[in-house]
Amino acid sequence: MRCPFCGADETKVIDSRLVAEGGQVRRRRQCLSCSERFTTYEAAELLMPRVIKRDGTREPFEEGKLRAGLQRALEKRPVSVEQIEAAITQIKHGLQTTGEREVPSRLIGERIMAKLRDLDEVAYVRFASVYRSFQDISEFRAELDKLESKAGKARDTSN
Ligand SMILES: [Zn+2]
Repeated sequence: MRCPFCGADETKVIDSRLVAEGGQVRRRRQCLSCSERFTTYEAAELLMPRVIKRDGTREPFEEGKLRAGLQRALEKRPVSVEQIEAAITQIKHGLQTTGEREVPSRLIGERIMAKLRDLDEVAYVRFASVYRSFQDISEFRAELDKLESKAGKARDTSN
């Protein structure tokens, strides 16, 4: 098992347990080279972590909610269904590879924002304005200015 942090081949298993759903083996490993710890789910399919909501309650990860959030932000934007599906796959994969059994909903929101920033800046601002519920209008303005200066730079380099 390769260490995801330094790439070394030698890791040891610290803890190993059967995951109730799906008959998977969850292994907590430690790299012998850099001492970093990570978790693997050794089965055909990786499990999604559960979601810790802002009020502390837990709920199962729902791909439908993720898709709905992306679609809402990307409504009438020039982004294809394939690009949206690829983003969903990447976000899910990113969450699985945290190795955590539970992740805060905030983390998922941040991952979505990072993805949208790459895909479509209008969708990013739409999502971020709702998600972050910007403290005040100046904060929102600052975010827009950042995007505009980035777009300006992109134009400059293309000339
Ligand atoms: Zn390592």
